[in-house]
Amino acid sequence: MNIIDGKAVSASVKEQIRAEIERDGLEIGLAVIIVGNNQASRVYVNNKKKACEVCGIKSYEYALPEETTQEQLLELIDTLNNDDKVNGILCQLPLPSHLDEEQVIEAISPLKDVDAFNAVNVGKIMIGNYAFLPCTPAGVMELIHSTGTKVEGKECVVIGRSNIVGKPMAMLLLHENATVTICHSRTKDLAEVCRRADILVSAVGRADFVTADMVKDGAIVIDVGMNRNAENKLCGDVKYDEVAPKCSYITPVPGGVGPMTIAMLMKNTLMAKRIQSKDE
Ligand code: NAP
Repeated sequence: MNIIDGKAVSASVKEQIRAEIERDGLEIGLAVIIVGNNQASRVYVNNKKKACEVCGIKSYEYALPEETTQEQLLELIDTLNNDDKVNGILCQLPLPSHLDEEQVIEAISPLKDVDAFNAVNVGKIMIGNYAFLPCTPAGVMELIHSTGTKVEGKECVVIGRSNIVGKPMAMLLLHENATVTICHSRTKDLAEVCRRADILVSAVGRADFVTADMVKDGAIVIDVGMNRNAENKLCGDVKYDEVAPKCSYITPVPGGVGPMTIAMLMKNTLMAKRIQSKDE
């Protein structure tokens, strides 16, 4: 069994980005909007700002109060859409419940939508002709590639069908010619379906969800889940101690997929600059 080191792969991706930005003397800006006082969101935003520093990207933070109105938020996004210093815009989710997330996502210019959540960019990912990567799934693909495994022809099972993780994950695997099955809460005989997987990706959001009986000997297991266990420690979806011995490769939590998502965000921000420079 081999542990895939997401921190190391992420550091190497960020170093490539930093070197490219330095080589070409690029000035790149990422606007990060955070609304309210969600502690987890604050941690994610801080990590994104740190990654910007490492890569040589300027980050502009907009920390708005909980009571921000939809109009105020849309007005800020409009200003940022028209600000040449800002190449990428991300609005940290979830937003407070009185705000309309979908409208906010759609208000971000597709050319600056570095999370690739906008319907235009989601559609491009579906077609397979895309500039912005879906960050978490693209990070998973990098981790799979880091093992030297060819995805083509493999049986891949994705547990979860969210717009952010499960669906685009399945698309990226499909684009690399895997045979892909997507599972969800209504899937029958989940364990049996999962046992078919050469590559099993879990994006459910429940600790200890993936158990050893769901995993084929020698499978690659990628754990996207970010949960808190009974001791309030960060953990994934996979019951690591019993699953790991069966795997050829497995990602730990923390230190697996998490750091990759941010590295892919940096890649998208550099891509945004490239796309916008073409239009000049
Ligand atoms: P989500 O929107 O809640 O989706 C969860 C999916 O799991 C749904 O499709 C749901 O099925 C499925 N599911 C729930 N219970 C199930 C069951 N008993 N059997 C089979 N499928 C079941 O969550 P998400 O946004 O995709 O995130 C999933 C996890 O990944 C969370 O822990 C999140 O924190 C983590 N995450 C990590 C990163 C990272 O960078 N590492 C990034 C994003 C998300 P239905 O559709 O039928 O309800």
